[in-house]
Amino acid sequence: MDEPSTTTPIELDGPVDVLPGIGPGRKALLAQLGIETIRDLLFHLPRTYQDRRHIARIADVTEGQAVTIQGVVASSRNVRFRGRMSMALVEVSDGTGSVKASFFGRGFLANTVFAKGAKIILTGRVAQFKGLTLKDPDYEMLGEDEDDRLNTGCVAPVYRLTEKLTQRVLRRWVATALDYVAVQLPEPLQPEILKRHDWLPVQESIREVHFPSTVESGQAARQRFAYEELLGLQLSLLGERAERMHEEQGCRHLINGPHLKALGRALPFELTRGQERAIADVLADMAQPRPMARLVQGDVGCGKTVVALHAIAAAADGGFQTALMAPTEILAEQHGLQLRALLEPFGLRVETLMGAARGATAIRKRIAAGEADVIVGTQALYQEKTKFHRLGLVIIDEQHRFGVLQRGRLTEKGLFPDVLHMTATPIPRTLAITVYGGMDLSVIEEMPPGRLPVKTRQIPPAKIPGLYEYIRKEAAHGRQTYIVCPLVDESEKREDLTPVIRHFDDLNLGPLGGLRTGLLHGRLDTTEKDTIMAAFKRREIDVLFSTTVIEVGIDVPSATTMVIEDAGQFGLTQLHQLRGRVGRGAEQSHCFLCGTPKTAEGKQRLDIFCACNNGFEIAEQDLKLRGPGEFHGVRQAGLSDLQAADLLRDVRLLDLARRDAQTMLEANPHARQAWQGLGATVRPTNL
Ligand code: ADP
Ligand code: MG
Repeated sequence: MDEPSTTTPIELDGPVDVLPGIGPGRKALLAQLGIETIRDLLFHLPRTYQDRRHIARIADVTEGQAVTIQGVVASSRNVRFRGRMSMALVEVSDGTGSVKASFFGRGFLANTVFAKGAKIILTGRVAQFKGLTLKDPDYEMLGEDEDDRLNTGCVAPVYRLTEKLTQRVLRRWVATALDYVAVQLPEPLQPEILKRHDWLPVQESIREVHFPSTVESGQAARQRFAYEELLGLQLSLLGERAERMHEEQGCRHLINGPHLKALGRALPFELTRGQERAIADVLADMAQPRPMARLVQGDVGCGKTVVALHAIAAAADGGFQTALMAPTEILAEQHGLQLRALLEPFGLRVETLMGAARGATAIRKRIAAGEADVIVGTQALYQEKTKFHRLGLVIIDEQHRFGVLQRGRLTEKGLFPDVLHMTATPIPRTLAITVYGGMDLSVIEEMPPGRLPVKTRQIPPAKIPGLYEYIRKEAAHGRQTYIVCPLVDESEKREDLTPVIRHFDDLNLGPLGGLRTGLLHGRLDTTEKDTIMAAFKRREIDVLFSTTVIEVGIDVPSATTMVIEDAGQFGLTQLHQLRGRVGRGAEQSHCFLCGTPKTAEGKQRLDIFCACNNGFEIAEQDLKLRGPGEFHGVRQAGLSDLQAADLLRDVRLLDLARRDAQTMLEANPHARQAWQGLGATVRPTNL
């Protein structure tokens, strides 16, 4: 190994290029991997390992075996097939014999990488292809160094690379970094925790995770770092909250006042267990002086509104106002109508406030004067102009639609209301407690009794005429249909997709002629949208053509059919949201998926979707298909570039880390500030 330079100290958080062997060019390559400091290099953990402790003698290999062999390239050639396909065919010998290896589609390797006489190590399965052949094995070129201890005869780490970097060179740099700075790594984990899990101290773990003695011990070391990272993450998520609680004095609400009691008596149905639990959670939070931050998650139709009603009643009992925010004006309008009907009998005053609506000034005056108890609106509620008289509760419906919410806006005004989020977008629990880690979570799993699950089917092109007949029959029985398209019009330049305006015209003139139809999309102005939606609710429209603006929360129990055009275009979660628009009444509802998916993944999505009606299961499947990075909030939170943890794999560790973080914060609310381990860099997206 090169001697360390006497002038530049080699420090954990120093730039990588102080390490011998790394100059400006290589520094730039490493930067492409996000590696800037030596610490970054150490925590560029292996993606996987290759067990190269046992190198097979080529003379001994037999068909069907999975082997690692090592030798020199005896010959190599580029075999061309008809068309443009090629294959590199290499012969490797090790003194005991020789074997072939084939690299399909990579003929170019033959004349470049696999030079005659080059040292090579191969791992793969032995097949019969005009003689014993390793088919598409993993390969690595070895160096001049006869016994390269980092690359062969050991468990070799396999890293994520970038072009122009090789495993070999990265291994060497990591080994060098370990030699210089591993001793500088502080131990962020408590000795009890290490002992409980049988984990090694950090300085040993970091060596073991890169150059393990067995694959298992490498994995155990990775687990240790995954836990460390998740703990750091939970500390920062929960810690932010813990500190805020410390500083902010929230409202303490009454939870046995007259409105709340009256509401309980007036309910026309028995609450489900999930609703009861969620209501109890919310009321318990509200009774505390610290500000509530709770997320109620539950599939469409599970009855989250009733939870909101209890919170509103409790706030009103103490003379506090509630602001309810919906993502769209349509939804705000619907909530306004619904809440008015439910709450005005109790003497509560409900106002609907939209950005540019007429009368907004007068409404704002009433809000400021305390003449409104519940204010329903869109984000316009948060505009500077709106002054609340005594805001004690904020309810946010379909929180995910807002992205990061401007809680700051409220606290700037000196308000620390309780905040209740409601979402029908079931995100997998793992993601929920990381992305929304700073919130408490109540999940409503069951549906109110007597719901018929929506039946879902894919409709092949030949069956489309039958579908239109079906829609006509439903309409004759007073049952309504949604037809959802992915685009508004041709201007979006996707010739393969159905624009809703054209579809509306085509079907009106054709198979759905004579039915009462309506058209809804995001380019209409609010009044137009509202008029159409209201007409649909009053059953004056049989078939509503729409884009995904109807996606969330619209409640029309007499709508029983959902047709989704180009269904392969939509993500699983979005499909599930759309399907949730039907099945809200007593009649059997159906969801029909049209269009042939263009990708294998699209096809798989539709198959899963047809087979599954449970939002949480769908979300888990979506997570498996697309990975955590595609879920809302994950990227913003910096969770898509975790170094050691994997949100799919490490569910158990996540639970553990969350509990341990809670314990640590109870002992010290500022624990996150002392944290020196992984996971300190995530940004919580929640309030
Ligand atoms: P979401 O969770 O999608 O917001 P809603 O609150 O709109 O669901 O409720 C959907 C429908 O179910 C409403 O018509 C509501 O009155 C009804 N509902 C809610 N809870 C119950 C229950 N426990 N028993 C029967 N019906 C219920
Ligand atoms: Mg709702």
